[in-house]
Order: sequence, then C-alpha cells, then structure tokens
Amino acid sequence: MRLLLVEDHVPLADELMDALKRQGYAVDWLADGRDAAHQGASEPYDLIILDLGLPGKPGLEVLRDWRADGLVTPVLILTARGSWAERIEGLKVGADDYLTKPFHPEELQLRIQALLRRARGLANQPQLEAAGLQLDESRQCVSRNGEVIELTSAEFRLLRYFMLHAGQLLSKSHLAEHLYDGESERDSNVIEVHVNHLRRKLGRSVIETRRGQGYRFTGDAG
Ligand code: CA
Repeated sequence: MRLLLVEDHVPLADELMDALKRQGYAVDWLADGRDAAHQGASEPYDLIILDLGLPGKPGLEVLRDWRADGLVTPVLILTARGSWAERIEGLKVGADDYLTKPFHPEELQLRIQALLRRARGLANQPQLEAAGLQLDESRQCVSRNGEVIELTSAEFRLLRYFMLHAGQLLSKSHLAEHLYDGESERDSNVIEVHVNHLRRKLGRSVIETRRGQGYRFTGDAG
C-alpha cells in the first residue's frame, strides 16, 4: 500500500516515515500544502496522512480541494492537542479519521490498518482475512488453519495488497505503483519473482496469472 505523508515538522515526519516503512508501507513525504494538493490528486495513493498547519496552503483547504475534485482516498488528519474546532472542521470537509498530537505510534498504525480495510469494504474484519488466510500485520506473517507461514518483507507487502483486493485483476504496473514510493525504481519483473515466492509458500493456485493482463489473488490452496 502506498501512502502520502504531509507534515512540515521534520523530526515528526522522519519518525513517522521510519515507522511506516517498517510496517511495510511505501511512503512519499511532502511538507508543503501546495505540493500536497497537486501530488495527492495526481498519484494513486491508498491513504493520506495530512497535518493541518502547513506552509503553502492550510491542510483544511488542501482536503477541501481534493474532495471537491472527487478524490475518495481515505484521509487521516493530524491535529493540535485540544483543538476540537480543527477536528470538527476536518471531519466536515471530508476527513475519514483524525489523530491528536502527540499520539502513540501504535495508535496511528491501527487506525491506518482499519481505514485501509474500511476503504475496501472489509470493516467487519479485525484482522485481514481472505480465502482462509489470516494476515498478521504486526508480525508480518500469514496463517492458514492455525499454521503460521513466515514471509519476507516484500512478500508481506505484496500479499497484503492482494488480500485487500482479493478476486480483482491487477496488472504488474498497477501493483508496482502501489507497492513502491515515488523515488523507487519500479521494476515489475521483481513483482513476478515475489509472486512466485508466495506461490511456493502458499500453493500454486493462490495467485492466478492472466497472460498479458496481470494477476488475480484467489487464495485457493489447491
Ligand atoms: Ca504543522
């Protein structure tokens, strides 16, 4: 999953970037509201974390513009402590959730996971599940019938994307856009390698190849 972090306080941004990358997210970071307004609307993010007090353009205006343009990406706003007015304004212009600074990193992690599941219509799942597989996002492993299967970080990131889009046909370029940040080189052949590793661990038919079109996660253990 690919996230945009908009935060002008550099020490906090650094800390969040490290934490989010450890959690297997591809993250782009911006500190300026104008840049965020443009990039948030033009790149295919799965979720946006938006500070409200920003140089260039206030976060609330950025969010209002995105929603007016029809952007449906989940947005979690970061607000100052005690500022209930900011939180209310944020929710009114289309924020999906908010966190008040300072916050515990684990709370951000859990809210992000919940927002991503909700955006895919999986709000009922406390833990990501598809076709008999349960994904443990904190340990970055998967289990089937109680058997734990260890994953590399790249396999975990790919499997999480597949499980959030079970049954959907996903091209290699689409997967690359959602698994790598804007600075990484996107080599879709690498995706093929990780798909094969996942098949070896989870069963051949767990991911179907459609020639010239891409992949489809079936979760089928066959
Ligand atoms: Ca700020």
